[in-house]
Amino acid sequence: MPGISEPYPWQQDQWKRLNRLIRHQRLPHALVLCGPRHLGKAQFGYALAQRLLCENQQAEVACGICKQCTLFASQNHPDVLLIQPEEEGNAIRIDSIRQLSEFTEKTAQQGGWKVVIISPADAMNINAANALLKTLEEPASKTLLILVCHQLSRLSATVKSRCQKVVFPVPVLAEVDSWLSSQMGDSRSTVAELLQYAEGRPLLALELLQTDLLEKRRAFDSMLDELAIGQLSAIVAAQKCQYLDGLMAIDWLYGRLALQLKTKNMHPGAYRYLDRLLQIKRRLHGGANPNKSLLWEELMLDWQHLFLLAPFGRAG
Ligand SMILES: [Zn+2]
Repeated sequence: MPGISEPYPWQQDQWKRLNRLIRHQRLPHALVLCGPRHLGKAQFGYALAQRLLCENQQAEVACGICKQCTLFASQNHPDVLLIQPEEEGNAIRIDSIRQLSEFTEKTAQQGGWKVVIISPADAMNINAANALLKTLEEPASKTLLILVCHQLSRLSATVKSRCQKVVFPVPVLAEVDSWLSSQMGDSRSTVAELLQYAEGRPLLALELLQTDLLEKRRAFDSMLDELAIGQLSAIVAAQKCQYLDGLMAIDWLYGRLALQLKTKNMHPGAYRYLDRLLQIKRRLHGGANPNKSLLWEELMLDWQHLFLLAPFGRAG
């Protein structure tokens, strides 16, 4: 039914646990939903918010038809506040947290719960995190703060210590299989292939399916295969790589080599190669702008060496 936010099938344990807390009126005033990206943690947060506001309190999930649910679905519920960066990748600043404190100090307009969702909470800068502490230290009644967090290490320790953790691990195949199959339509790929490329993260798998990323990834992998057996020159491969998003392609390369290391006896230089990819990734994240053609030529040449000389010989 439209208008209902529900948890995903792989979030049932966490959902049941929180429902138990709600039934026993033991819900903490702040939760941090943590785990890797692309697992649907924000969606879980919305589902929980709607469940709390819904007038049919006996139901396990929100009913989708009461007045509160209708307001929620129209994204106009006066007792829900969503805090996110102005643009994806930007920081959440102190102004947003000031808005949050005003919101939590007011009485609920609909007479029930008030819910704040901060997504992602690890985007808060230091000033914002410090401002949030005040609200966390003086919790208002029937007010829930939901912090969605992709990287727990980036959240300040004092903020973390005042929230109850709800952990979302990467689901196992059985928890994802039927959901992902139902989304696939007449796709030419399989659930297993998609999940492998998405490192087990179902929403990323869906994104691969709905964009041209899956095709790009397959082309990238066959390029690496040709490179590895000497059918393609490193220079040509490097030219192709330059047109890809740098961080994404580095991730792909990393994923591919990590997988090879599990199944194949590789040259020890492979581990140095992985380290190097991590370093490049850190530099790119830090805003570095390396010479692309040089970077990719080196990476492709050394990739070729890793395989042509494997498992002995000079590489990396
Ligand atoms: Zn309802």
